[in-house]
Formats: sequence, structure tokens, C-alpha cells
Amino acid sequence: MDNTCEICHQHAPADCYLCDGCVYRMRAWLRELPRQLPLLQDSLQPDTGPARRGSSGRAHSPIPVRVDVLDLLGPGHVVLLDDPHGDQSAGVPISALLAGWARYLASEHQAVRYDRHGTQRLEPCNGAVPRRGTGIAAWCSWLTAYLPYAVTRPWAADMYKQLDDLVHRVRGITRTTPRRHVMDAPCPGCSAFALVSKDDEWHISCEACTVRLSPDEYAEHRARIMPALAAIALQIAAAQQAAA
Ligand SMILES: [Zn+2]
Ligand SMILES: [Zn+2]
Repeated sequence: MDNTCEICHQHAPADCYLCDGCVYRMRAWLRELPRQLPLLQDSLQPDTGPARRGSSGRAHSPIPVRVDVLDLLGPGHVVLLDDPHGDQSAGVPISALLAGWARYLASEHQAVRYDRHGTQRLEPCNGAVPRRGTGIAAWCSWLTAYLPYAVTRPWAADMYKQLDDLVHRVRGITRTTPRRHVMDAPCPGCSAFALVSKDDEWHISCEACTVRLSPDEYAEHRARIMPALAAIALQIAAAQQAAA
């Protein structure tokens, strides 16, 4: 197995199918999903828009709830991902998708047990049992706890893509995007003030070129460049004062 991330093709740690940046994103999505639930519930009622004067009324009654939101929130069927390479995420509700992956993961995970003679045995896990019930938040915490294992399995990229699709479907309905912050140091590649950090991204990326820095690399770069930038700014201010 080569150490290339199957999602972004950057370097991945030994025995992992995904790089740290992509795993960071998955962890952020699993944190975000429970926070999206109240917004999704608020979106259940169709947006009927402003009342129009002189309207002759509707030919049919409106559907009382949005079907796309109901799809996401519904219990659905728990999808046993016998074939994780299949395209099973389309239209799958949030809890069914999360529970499906948790059960699939548990079926492969080796549980350590001790028999009555005290001998250690490795057996498949009995199943995924989140401590905090079987709600969406509980499945998200469970999957987060097992991410370090999931990332060593050949289906890690399938799980990534299905979570990616799910989070984007949810964000599309709740009209939310991760917060972004423009960093104060310019890009080391193109000098533009276009380095941006986002809530669900480990890396700080330049929006004007392809530069991508880890938080440590950015801190180092900033520490190196900011004193020089501050000195230039002071010189400009002094020159302006002298000219005035
Ligand atoms: Zn990656
Ligand atoms: Zn750049």
C-alpha cells in the first residue's frame, strides 16, 4: 500500500488510506451534523414565500413538509453496507447512514476479550453500541472515536465520500457554510493576502494559488514575515508624516 491519500492524493501516514487533513475534515463533519439538526427541523416547513396580492389560489394544497428534509431526518432503513463500493448514500437518512457505517465498522473491528483462563482472544465486535443512545449525536461520537481505526480500512474513502455527500445535502437545505477566516500574513507562494482557514479544514489554504500550510507551518511563516511587514508599514507611515 502506498501512502497516498485516496481523496486528495497528499501524503498519508503509514497504513492509512486518508491523510490527516481529510480525517480532520471527517471529524469536523461528525461534530457539525448534530449541530445542524435544529436547523434542519426548522427547515421542515416549506418556505411558502410572501403572499401575493390578487393570487387566484392554489390548484392543489401545498405539501405540509419538505420531503427532502424528511428524507434526511427520517429513521429510514438501517443500511447494512455489505457493499461499501456501491452507491448507497443517495437519499439515505442521516441516522441510517451513520448507524450503517458504525455497524459495518464494528463487524470488522477486532474486540479483545479474555476467556475464563485469562487468555486474550481477538474476536469480531458484537456490534456498535453507542453509550449515549442511538440518536444522531451518539452515532457521531461513536464514529469519531473509531475514526483512527476506520482510516486504516480500505473502505475509508467510501465512508469519507458518503459523509461528504451527506453534509453537503444538509448544508444545502440549511443554507450554512463553514466559517472562514482570512489570515493576516500574506501567502508565501504568491504574496496575496488570500490565506484562509475554515472551520472544517486542518490546513490553511491560499485562495489565489495552490499553497497549503499546516497550522504550524503558518505560525512559522507568520513569525518570520510579520516583523518585516511591520517594519515596512512603520517606514511608510514615517515617510507620510515627513511629507505632510
Ligand atoms: Zn487527503
Ligand atoms: Zn498564494
